[in-house]
Amino acid sequence: MKHKRIGFTTSFPVEVVFAAGHTPIDLNNIFLTQDAVAHIHSAELKGFPRTICSWIKGNYNAALCSNLDEVIGIIQGDCSNGNSLLDMLGEEGMSIFRFSFPPERSTEALNKEISNLEAHFGVSRSDTLKAKLRLDSIRKKLLVLDEWTWNQRLVSGKENHYWLVNSSDFMGNPDLYEENLDAFMQNAEKRDPLPSRLRLAYLGVPPIYKNIYDSIIDCGGDVLFNEVQRQFSMPSLHEDILQQYLTYTYPYSVYYRLADIKPELEKRHIDAVISYTQSFCHLQIDNLLLKKYIDLPFLTLEGDQPEELDSRTLLRLESFFEVHS
Ligand code: SF4
Repeated sequence: MKHKRIGFTTSFPVEVVFAAGHTPIDLNNIFLTQDAVAHIHSAELKGFPRTICSWIKGNYNAALCSNLDEVIGIIQGDCSNGNSLLDMLGEEGMSIFRFSFPPERSTEALNKEISNLEAHFGVSRSDTLKAKLRLDSIRKKLLVLDEWTWNQRLVSGKENHYWLVNSSDFMGNPDLYEENLDAFMQNAEKRDPLPSRLRLAYLGVPPIYKNIYDSIIDCGGDVLFNEVQRQFSMPSLHEDILQQYLTYTYPYSVYYRLADIKPELEKRHIDAVISYTQSFCHLQIDNLLLKKYIDLPFLTLEGDQPEELDSRTLLRLESFFEVHS
């Protein structure tokens, strides 16, 4: 069977792709680690409007430049632009496949979606579960890394972000990812605990800003809870793949996210919340409800382009720290 490079637009049951012996590639991660501005510019030259989220434009062009065999688009439970993005990629001659997180969040509907995915890649449920066991052995280490972030304070918020956000595809190579993670954790274990100062939560999609974690540390705080990145690491560790992807909060209603966030804020003794929103994203509406139901100092930051924090946003961040430190 030919080995394939499979791009995807957000976390989904990646176990199926690994079970088929292919390499999954999270388009968000490659967009941001390559020349992100150039990706956006190329998409705009093809007609994508300025008022469409930069991640969509970046994912589109990154998909075209990454020698992919196929793109899996998550068309329900992620982005309101997902379907149109896939159509545009299809127009470029790219093979596309649609996956949905059913909005009713039922076991039956999700089972149907995962079964379709398995049929597409010619793998059985037991193949998928075998791949899941392998990935779960790495995810268990990420649970320890996460605890070292908020409890022992051996890991910074930026490092926590890096490892968790990349667990969406294990950088295409779980063995190498694990080897590097082990080396990182062996070093981190020997550190003196980092200062706690203002204990922050970071909510929302991963930041497009390049230096947000460094700026937070410069202001005198650190992130002890990365909400969505932690979700990408599938922290529930359910043995059953259906339960795992039903417990994964990001694709479903904001109320499921709140049910995950609120106990974590308490457990981690979080002092204040930074909620990140992306310009032109429907999740800005969910942010209104996060703010309504989270009873902590709450700062919403909005990012647009892959760049360093602009002076206005930096000023807002610094003022927030002045008031709450
Ligand atoms: S940030 Fe929002 S609009 Fe942009 S790709 Fe993600 S879900 Fe879609």
